[in-house]
Amino acid sequence: MLILMRADAGAADLERVLDLLRESGIKPQVTRTEDATCILGPDASKALNAEQISALAGVRKVVRISSPFKLASLDGAMGRTVVEVNGVRIGGGDLAIVAGPCGVESRDQLFTVARYVADSGVKLLRAGAFKPRTSPYAFQGLGLEGLRLLEQVRAEYSLGIVTEALDVETFDAVEAAADMVQIGARNMQNFALLRRAGRCGKPVLLKRGPSATLEEWLYAAEYILAEGNRRVVLCERGIRTWSDHARNTLDLSVVPAAKALTHLPVMVDPSHGTGRRDLVVPCARAAVAVGADGVLVETHCNPEKALSDGPQALLPSDFAQMVGQLEGIHRVLREAKGALSGLALNGL
Ligand code: PEP
Ligand code: MN
Repeated sequence: MLILMRADAGAADLERVLDLLRESGIKPQVTRTEDATCILGPDASKALNAEQISALAGVRKVVRISSPFKLASLDGAMGRTVVEVNGVRIGGGDLAIVAGPCGVESRDQLFTVARYVADSGVKLLRAGAFKPRTSPYAFQGLGLEGLRLLEQVRAEYSLGIVTEALDVETFDAVEAAADMVQIGARNMQNFALLRRAGRCGKPVLLKRGPSATLEEWLYAAEYILAEGNRRVVLCERGIRTWSDHARNTLDLSVVPAAKALTHLPVMVDPSHGTGRRDLVVPCARAAVAVGADGVLVETHCNPEKALSDGPQALLPSDFAQMVGQLEGIHRVLREAKGALSGLALNGL
């Protein structure tokens, strides 16, 4: 349920509405825009009817949200969400690029990659300190030591840090070190972790599960939103299909499909989405063209020696070239926006 307050409603009016919702077991969320205050009461219509709320002083309008994603849904939202990380706007028509190695391997490796990422003009660095690996014998990440290195590299190059939280136990440490916390594909339905992410003070990048439907992905986002964290960005990273020419099948059609349902920004990760260096750049270009709010890519100074995901890591020179191409495509699309608007392209 979405409750819009009148412009002249006072603090006491707002409190009365919030109290009524809380008494009914609902966790209300207040959003203030320039000219309106609105209250989102997820699932409130189960416990209360619109007339009860409309009768309260200061209430202008009550809207039922029919979507099952009460907080993630586009209907009922006060416009599309823009998530800002280190001065980079994810959403709102901008193009965000997040880049870096799969994992933090050493000070030397991290600083080398960070230097060329920063030189390319990209302001968000990705690298996992805690790595979710298929094999328990594979490199698991440097853990807390990796987080310390990420803090140092942020200070050195003024880069925002995007890094994964693997479990609830290590979440506090990751939250403290990160500018944006990544929830990995394998954890998309780890509900305890999603709830913890919802209580965290940093924006969250929510990867799509390897076999998740769009609906399941949006419900996962809903878990985070329901705890009060509104800064959620979705990231498509490929799903498991029977197509075997690539590691995963990058589902670019999910970008406009998601944008038709949710106000949350949607990014694309063509690195895990394909697992093949030669496919990453073409798919990154396609992601921008399809209306993604940003791209997350892996790059390594020496992919041959990478401790994880070397085959999909872009070489430094390819990476720099890709950044130029993506910015060029984004610029062209922006300029063509007027001409394209008649085609109802979601999110462009
Ligand atoms: C990663 O970003 O390094 C990663 C492990 O991604 P995913 O969860 O999408 O596999
Ligand atoms: Mn990886």
